[in-house]
Amino acid sequence: MPELLILIYTAIFGLAIGSFLNVCIVRLPAGRSILRPRSACPACGRQLRWYENIPVLSFLALRGRCLGCKGPISIRYPLVELATGLIWVGSYLYFETVWQALSAAIFGTLLLGIAVTDAREYIIPDEFSLGGLVLGLALSLAPGRPTPLWSLAGAGLAFALMYGVAVVGEWAFKKPALGGGDIKMLAMIGAFLGPLHAVLTIFVGSVVGAVIFGPIALKTGRLVPFGVFLAVGAAVVVLWGDALVGWYVTHILRL
Ligand SMILES: [Zn+2]
Repeated sequence: MPELLILIYTAIFGLAIGSFLNVCIVRLPAGRSILRPRSACPACGRQLRWYENIPVLSFLALRGRCLGCKGPISIRYPLVELATGLIWVGSYLYFETVWQALSAAIFGTLLLGIAVTDAREYIIPDEFSLGGLVLGLALSLAPGRPTPLWSLAGAGLAFALMYGVAVVGEWAFKKPALGGGDIKMLAMIGAFLGPLHAVLTIFVGSVVGAVIFGPIALKTGRLVPFGVFLAVGAAVVVLWGDALVGWYVTHILRL
């Protein structure tokens, strides 16, 4: 198949996955089924027809308003679809083998889903974290990195590390410092990235979170949606993890 055609198919597939991710983002935290009923306008409850449900295009054609009640449709819908499309196309272009690309695309989609639900409602649905953990372990059976053993070690170490931080944090601050969702999310990240890059993710996520959200949290007393920053950290590590480790080894450890 010509390269361009594969790219177009990948983009369309990514946009469709993004459309499904929108359903998951709204329904999973509420404990609703993601299969039934069909999508409806959140304002008036009218079920959407197929042509109102085309990723990004419907939003543009309807100018962000429901056909029935003219109520506004959140810009989050087309943005999540577009971002997912970019994740899938980007993974296809960035990685050498099909399995690596597929694994990265699924991982990126899960991270996006977690980042949005955590930012909106401080919830990391088990379907994303534990479901992703199972997917990550399963994908390690495919050729390439990480191997099944490395994936298992990543999930185990990440879980143990975060669990330890949660226990110590609760003892030190006399209140829960980490949510169970964060711990399960990191087990999922460990399964996809292995132990070294999982630890790097905690580090990068904490630094990014402290720099960006620290001042806001101090001023407003808002809780830190740690899942958002762990997702950003994991994305950074997927793209530049090896470079970061290399820089650390040559410049800090001076080996
Ligand atoms: Zn409506």
